[in-house]
Parts: sequence; C-alpha cells; structure tokens
Amino acid sequence: MKAEEWLKPILTERSPLYPVPTGIEPRLDQIAGIKAVIFDVYGTLVVSGSGDVGSIDHTDRSSVIRRACDRLNISESVDGPISWQDLRSAIDQMNAERKSSNCVSPEIDVISVWRELLDQKGLQFSTPAISQVVRLATYFEAWANPTWPMPAACDAVHQLSSRGFCLGIVSNAQIFTNLLVEDLEFSKKNGTSVFQSDLSFFSNRFRHSKPGPRLFDALSNALRRRNILPQEAVYVGNDMLNDVWAAKQIGMKTAWFVGDRRSARERSDDSRCAKLSPDLVITSLPQLLECLTLK
Ligand SMILES: [Mg+2]
Repeated sequence: MKAEEWLKPILTERSPLYPVPTGIEPRLDQIAGIKAVIFDVYGTLVVSGSGDVGSIDHTDRSSVIRRACDRLNISESVDGPISWQDLRSAIDQMNAERKSSNCVSPEIDVISVWRELLDQKGLQFSTPAISQVVRLATYFEAWANPTWPMPAACDAVHQLSSRGFCLGIVSNAQIFTNLLVEDLEFSKKNGTSVFQSDLSFFSNRFRHSKPGPRLFDALSNALRRRNILPQEAVYVGNDMLNDVWAAKQIGMKTAWFVGDRRSARERSDDSRCAKLSPDLVITSLPQLLECLTLK
C-alpha cells in the first residue's frame, strides 16, 4: 500500500454533513481592486464538526480511539487502551515544549503524537507499523472530526479562479488536510490546482498555527513577490480570532464566513476581537462573487 493510501480514510470514511444556519445576517459590500482570495479550510471550504483540524472541544473521544485501534488490530499489540486524556496530554506536552516568544502558537505533527503514544504503550516500530500509525491517526481524525465539502465551495473557487483572482490557502492543518483540498477540486483542468502553491500555507509544515503570525507573515511575503499588496487580498475564514484578526495583522481585507453554526466562531470573549469588524460577513461562499471585483 502506498503512503497516500494510508490517508484515504479521511475521504472514504465521510458521510454527508450539511451546514446549520447561524441566523447571522450577511453584510455584503463591494470591494474593488482585489487580486487574491485566500481561504481557511476547516469550517470554511469544508463543513467541519469542530471548525478546525483536530478536535478543539473537550468531549471525551476515548471510544473513537478504541474503535480506530480495533479497526487496525492494534489494540492487542499495545499495553492497555489509549485514552482521550493520553492524547490530549501528549499534544499539550508537545506544544508546551515548543512554545516561546518566537513560536507563540505552535503546531503539532499529529503523526509524531500518535507514534509517541503507541511507543509509550509498547508497540514496536517497523516500516509496516509506521503505516499503522498514519492510518490510526487518519481514522481517528476522520471519525472524531468529520468533514464534508461546503456547499458550492468547489463552484465558487473555480468561478473566482476563472475571473482572474489568484487563490491560496492558509490553514491549520495536518498531513491529511491536503486530500480534503484536492477533493474540492475534482473538476480541475489539466491536473493544475486552482490554488497557487506559492500562496498556500499549512500549519503542520511550519509547526506554527493560526492565530500566531508565522503563516500570515509567509503569505505576506508571497503576495509581495507577486506585487500584490495585503489590502489587495481578502482572507476568508470562519473564526474571528484565527482568521479575521490574524489576517488583519498583515493588513488584509477579511470576510468572516458564518454559513455553519458548528464552526462560526465569534470569539467575543477575546479582547483582540472586541472591536474587530470584518470587511464582509458572508453566509455562503458564492457571495464572494457578488462582492469582489478585480478593478
Ligand atoms: Mg476554520
């Protein structure tokens, strides 16, 4: 089995998940002179149970871990079950080790976390066992944080691309996130992505996450190399802190996506969001086509 196959459950274990209206009114304005539209993934391009990669709430998912271990016949090879608390502690510890003034918002590598957990439980590693680690992480993510393409996401990104906007991604992500993005682009032509690779940044590759500055600083540099000013780019995301606040730090225009109650995050308890106002509030992605113009 190829390494890519190990990640396939992130797509094959899905079932339809439709957005739940938020009741928040859209605020649509005309914004001219836009050259680039950059997207968040979880809770924006895909419906996501948590609105982010991984599970950010505190629901105990020990039963999901057990189910994933059973699926891969790992349960009998390890010394005792892996609990939700074991997983949370491993993630917290890995983040704490990396947190510093230069890394205010660390990102884990989820494969390393699971590898460490299985190591602690006495699983001996060989090449096949590494495939088991990746598959275990993938099954767990697929079941604990189910996703489904956001309605009209594929059509909206293709239409924005055909109108001449440069498209990119800034996402908190793990190794399987790219499959969710590629899946959105099933109608891509000539195998070329509508998302520009030089404008796409995934937190697991940087080991820095939003709302820390690293990913948006990298985007800012990439926009500059294309002679695009930050105010000529719009960032679209579901989270007022991770997306709207973080993108505003580099001077981008922002669209707060509030199309799904599961993931729309107002962050009213965070002082950084107290006086924050996005340029647009949208309840569906095609509204971007009504609001944004190149000239
Ligand atoms: Mg999101």
